[in-house]
Amino acid sequence: MSESQLRRDLLETSRQMLACGLNRGTSGNASVRCDEGFLVTPSALPVSAMTAASLVKMTLAGEVVGTGKPSSEWRFHRDILAARPEVGAVLHAHSTFATTLACLRRDVPAVHYMVAMAGGSSVRCAPYALFGSQELSDHALYALQGRKACLLANHGMIALGANLDEALAVAQEVEFLSEIYWRTLQAGEPQLLTAQHMADVQQRFKDYKKQDFEE
Ligand code: 13P
Ligand code: ZN
Repeated sequence: MSESQLRRDLLETSRQMLACGLNRGTSGNASVRCDEGFLVTPSALPVSAMTAASLVKMTLAGEVVGTGKPSSEWRFHRDILAARPEVGAVLHAHSTFATTLACLRRDVPAVHYMVAMAGGSSVRCAPYALFGSQELSDHALYALQGRKACLLANHGMIALGANLDEALAVAQEVEFLSEIYWRTLQAGEPQLLTAQHMADVQQRFKDYKKQDFEE
């Protein structure tokens, strides 16, 4: 895909994160892999003021190509894209329910079968570290092992996908799962699925695709 198309798509995904309530103001950021490395949203600029030209290009070595101030979280965007070749897009949000659980420093357990969409039987919560720090990136990368999402203690969440659409779907699902877990905790004792239940869900997901129609 051309760089200008990737710029339009990254801007559109950032706007969708705002529109669906995952982020607000300057909270959160997003990146997408490109030929020379990746494109990342700029730091401290509200999505409403972003243009395709304000997105910042970086190499996987962490250098800015051209101009612009990249997101303060460029380290975890870079580290994830460098360590996980199957990942094409990284989204970060301060969404309400995921952040609520992150402030309790709780993992999202197998409270609903869709937890498997994030790649396993839980969404882990990474330990607290200062925003923008290498320590935060190291914690995130560890919590993301074998997963497409994690919570960040006292901060928010990260969602990954092969592309921006998948990463947005994962982020929305993690927010839903966090809300369901929080709500069930208010009402009583959530009944968790077993490791076998979750293995069965992973198996079933292998054939869960939309039908392809010939033109
Ligand atoms: P940036 O505006 O630098 O991307 O920071 C927002 C954020 O969510 C930091 O964790
Ligand atoms: Zn943040």
